[in-house]
Amino acid sequence: MTGQAWDAIFVGAGITSLACAAMLAQRQPGLRLLLIDKHIVAGGYASVFRRPRQDATFDCSLHKLSGMQEGGNLIRILRQLGLDQSLELVYPHDYFCAYRGDEALALANDVDQVQQQLLARFPGQAEGIAQFFEQVATFGRNGYYQFQMLDGSFEPDIAQLRYAHRHLKHKTVREGLAELFSDPLLIEILAAPGIYVGGYPEDLGYLYYLHVVYATLNRGNAYVRGASEQLSAQLVQRIEQGGGQVLLSTRVEKVLDDGQGKVRGVATSRGEFLAPRVYINASPHYAVEHLFAADTPLAPVRQKLANLKPARSTTTVYLVLDQAPESLGLAHSESMLFADAPASAGPARDAAALAGHPHALSEQAYWQLSPMEVTNYHLLDPEGGRVVCLNVLDAIDQWPQRRTPEYRAKKQRAAEVLVERLLTAVPGLRGHVLHTEVATPHTYVRFTNNTAGSGYGAMVGTDLSGHVFHHGFPLAGVHFLSAWVAGPSYEAAFGYAEMKAGQWVAA
Ligand SMILES: Cc1cc2nc3c(=O)[nH]c(=O)nc-3n(C[C@H](O)[C@H](O)[C@H](O)COP(=O)(O)OP(=O)(O)OC[C@H]3O[C@@H](n4cnc5c(N)ncnc54)[C@H](O)[C@@H]3O)c2cc1C
Repeated sequence: MTGQAWDAIFVGAGITSLACAAMLAQRQPGLRLLLIDKHIVAGGYASVFRRPRQDATFDCSLHKLSGMQEGGNLIRILRQLGLDQSLELVYPHDYFCAYRGDEALALANDVDQVQQQLLARFPGQAEGIAQFFEQVATFGRNGYYQFQMLDGSFEPDIAQLRYAHRHLKHKTVREGLAELFSDPLLIEILAAPGIYVGGYPEDLGYLYYLHVVYATLNRGNAYVRGASEQLSAQLVQRIEQGGGQVLLSTRVEKVLDDGQGKVRGVATSRGEFLAPRVYINASPHYAVEHLFAADTPLAPVRQKLANLKPARSTTTVYLVLDQAPESLGLAHSESMLFADAPASAGPARDAAALAGHPHALSEQAYWQLSPMEVTNYHLLDPEGGRVVCLNVLDAIDQWPQRRTPEYRAKKQRAAEVLVERLLTAVPGLRGHVLHTEVATPHTYVRFTNNTAGSGYGAMVGTDLSGHVFHHGFPLAGVHFLSAWVAGPSYEAAFGYAEMKAGQWVAA
């Protein structure tokens, strides 16, 4: 393949690359598309790893897909690709079950029911609850259909846009929710979907977050049987059927230019590949640091990138149990565990960050007090084994270098703390954990090159100036195509990929 000319090369075969290439292959069969990934499987975070001895398949990212009911962007795109027929979709009963102390509140997978459930549980917050769901249905909806707004197929109410721009755009989730509510548990429950996009209430822009709630609750969610790797594998199939290729275990080392401001291809661990377009699926910070020739005039890009903050990373604990988790009391596909004193989580994270992320303070803030997300994979797909997965958003700064005794000891502590939280919330699981594995922010860097181990590309906060880093990129033919430009989540990846595929013009 070396030296052969391609129509486009994709640096990385994460979900955004796969989606875009599959759409191009469908629209223009015969296009010569080459996806190159350093890993042994395609998909990036949308992949699994297996432990045959434990009879377990672990999903690297959670693969809860938003926008999966009528009117949803993702289901529409999957239909266009014919994937709604070939993928087996699982629609869960609950949005998630909220645990605090002895209390468990299973929120239905329906926005009206969730509103009623919250009203019944927090009657003193009725006014705020009504306002909040109204905001989700108007401003969240406008944000959700942003790509359709650009192509003219969705016409928003201009007065709503103006109001959002003036009153909501500059607020964080912490500020937005504090204006509506005084109950700290309700605030933590409503802020929990921020975990799906890698941000705590102090991190995320309120307007953006309203669209996340709209996408995941109002537009429905579903899982793929066979985990996220099924989705990636089927996209690879579509690409190959259309004449494209996916080359694995191959590291891209440099993006090549023609000396006159145009991209020419890439140099990899297996030689050079040439194309007039190169789509960069890897983190832009990493790409700018490592993939371009020293004389590429990247100073303005670097300056903008300084304002593009990575979303949070994750510490994940994978568990294998000796019985079906639901038979031991973990009855819901997804649960969120909140601290006994939910109001303490935010200030604890502030204090840990201010002190430079020392161990004890950070472990308490991120692992003990912040919400912990729990997915019962067995309930979604028993063929993957008796698997449960625990996630907390985390800061890479609290983690020592890999392969050191400090790192190993910290991994051990993370497993103990997070598993104990689960066992306290669901005591029936105690004594049934057979196998435990931990992925840290460093694990995520190692496998994907994502800056600071970000699980979700760029943080979408209140300052969006860094998000235009790629506008006017100094090398013609270079495109960025990942969660770093699309926004976090599979749905955003497919939406952005659709837009990029639509922009294809013959070179
Ligand atoms: C723990 C966790 C849980 C999540 N849960 C959900 C969820 O439930 N629902 C949801 O919608 N989203 C979820 N996400 C987010 C979602 O997984 C990501 O937004 C999405 O997968 C990112 O895709 P991407 O296209 O940006 O590529 P990535 O997955 O970041 O892949 C980038 C690819 O580039 C490759 N690469 C990098 N450098 C090179 C190089 N030099 N040469 C060759 N290849 C290279 C890497 O190997 C990798 O395969 C989760 C993420 C994490 C981490």
